Amino acid sequence: MVSHSVFHQPSAPGPQVIIHGGAGATLKSKGAVPPLRESLYHIVRTIYNHLTQGMGAVEAVVIGCQLLEDDPQFNAGTGAVLQSDGQVRLSAALMDGRTQTFSGVINAQRVQYPITLAEFLQTQNDRVIADAGTVELARELHTPLYNPITPKRLQEWVNESKDGALMNLVSEMGTIGVVVRDTQGHLAAGTSTGGKGGERIGRVSDSAMPAGTYANDCAAISCTGIGEDIINECLAARIVLRVTDGLDLHQAFERSLAESAQRGRDLGAIGLDAQGNIAWGKTTEVILAAYGTNNIVGDALPTA
Ligand code: ASP
Repeated sequence: MVSHSVFHQPSAPGPQVIIHGGAGATLKSKGAVPPLRESLYHIVRTIYNHLTQGMGAVEAVVIGCQLLEDDPQFNAGTGAVLQSDGQVRLSAALMDGRTQTFSGVINAQRVQYPITLAEFLQTQNDRVIADAGTVELARELHTPLYNPITPKRLQEWVNESKDGALMNLVSEMGTIGVVVRDTQGHLAAGTSTGGKGGERIGRVSDSAMPAGTYANDCAAISCTGIGEDIINECLAARIVLRVTDGLDLHQAFERSLAESAQRGRDLGAIGLDAQGNIAWGKTTEVILAAYGTNNIVGDALPTA
């Protein structure tokens, strides 16, 4: 029987930010918590400071995602996990809640910041681009070629290949997400991932679908966990629509996560509503989430 938990931080004046660095089973070592917390807090503070100085929600989400994509502790951008063929393929999505516009890239290769491609696509007629199209797009934008593979991830892949366990490999955790509410009350969400790790070539993650990233002017959500489970629940859009139809954010999380747990799903989500309430929830053991509101920074990390 899968259980679930939901947490709630009530609304406060000023902007809000919540970020995640993935969800999953217990961290391999308790020693992993302090550096993760330090990194998440630093990024929360950076985004929060930008927001208090008047930065808009979409720009703040992009900057937050870039900082997380640069951190090799997380499975996004630099340090993303390798797929079954030893390649890294990156997916990212951005949704502007004010205009209710979704954009994203699926399985992009040799880019440093997939979220930046998603940002460019916000203003285009074609807003979700996959595979070869992402190479063309990166070339068009004069994006330098970049190798996001770190020695640690390569070694993990080599070890798993030797064990013959690659097709069953599920990365420990590490997909990233950022959700903000700016001082104007506008919402935006972004998610970026290297996928599950060890997956079949061409597999598409939930992160660059409305199942994994969704926002309107009522709520904004970023998900993490097993992509297939998140897609089956259509979790991000499900929570947003519940808030749009009148449930408060906490209730929308509670109902959606309870349903997910009943169906044995492995997932987590973070979110904000237009009033500045913050919520996160999970059916997994751990979600690496941290938030900033009312000059306070807090987190959902396991105690070290
Ligand atoms: N949701 C991501 C995927 O399935 C993985 C994760 O969140 O860890 O591609």
